[in-house]
Amino acid sequence: MHLAMDIMSSGYYHAKATKKVGLVFTALNLLLCSLILIYQLSNQWLALLLGAIVGLWLGHLVTPDYDVNQGNYIKRKLIIRYGLLGKLWALYWLPYAIIQPHRGISHTWPKGTFLRYLLTVWPLIALLSYLVFWLQIDWLFELSFLIGIFSGQSLQDWVHLFMDR
Ligand SMILES: [Zn+2]
Repeated sequence: MHLAMDIMSSGYYHAKATKKVGLVFTALNLLLCSLILIYQLSNQWLALLLGAIVGLWLGHLVTPDYDVNQGNYIKRKLIIRYGLLGKLWALYWLPYAIIQPHRGISHTWPKGTFLRYLLTVWPLIALLSYLVFWLQIDWLFELSFLIGIFSGQSLQDWVHLFMDR
């Protein structure tokens, strides 16, 4: 119980910090995107930067503290706000919370981040791979976008790990 309360309150500060980082870097990335469009640079950079924006907000949502179920600030908030959808989301992450000890691999980079990355974006990887294959889109775009997502999540996880020290 004590642990749950502890994570709950630190979860509030984590969420506050990653929201700020998300907003600042989203603005920065959008600025860079417009420069790329203005100067007509490679669209791969565009895919990377847009992916990073997605990753920033996924990183804000799916934190290293998903290794706990009870008393997780974000999961609790999603349940209050979205009801059944929030509960299903928490249920999806339940095996992860049970298997992962608190502050184990979940709190390491790149391993912990990569595991959460895979568990979060696998439907997107499947969809994009399908599109690349059937519409013959350059797979480098897909790769850049996916690397972008991971880098956005990484930044948010570094913020988390730094605060947890
Ligand atoms: Zn933590």
